[in-house]
Amino acid sequence: MSDLSDLYQEVILDHNRRPRNWGSLADATRTAEGFNPLCGDRLKLHVRIDGDRVAGIAFEGSGCAISKASASLMTDAVKGKTLGEALDLFDRVHIMLTTPIDEAVDEAAVGKLAVLAGVREFPTRVKCASLAWHTLKSAITASPEVAKTE
Ligand code: ZN
Repeated sequence: MSDLSDLYQEVILDHNRRPRNWGSLADATRTAEGFNPLCGDRLKLHVRIDGDRVAGIAFEGSGCAISKASASLMTDAVKGKTLGEALDLFDRVHIMLTTPIDEAVDEAAVGKLAVLAGVREFPTRVKCASLAWHTLKSAITASPEVAKTE
């Protein structure tokens, strides 16, 4: 677990410093906003859905390092995936984040996202890590008419 903790710190710092897929997306077909009142994290997610696939994804907002890094990791992970695969990954990450700290997580189920399991050491920050995923889910499942706010 300590290896994963070290990696967790490293990955969070790296993605916070250089978030992947940061910004807006001119041709987005879905937009969703997420807010974590516990920490004050705000996230706006832009998704371009082409057929059944996440063809493009970007995010912006303001929040703590964990929320930003998690959004960065999430966008990297779901880009190019089908909507079904993205929702499946949401479920796997959700299971991982809610696994008790003294139990091993199924790293094979989530791939490199397993580093996020480190957040379980800080229970108040779990919502920071899950915010991007909940926002993704609402972006994917909402109807475009409702989700488009501009
Ligand atoms: Zn936060």
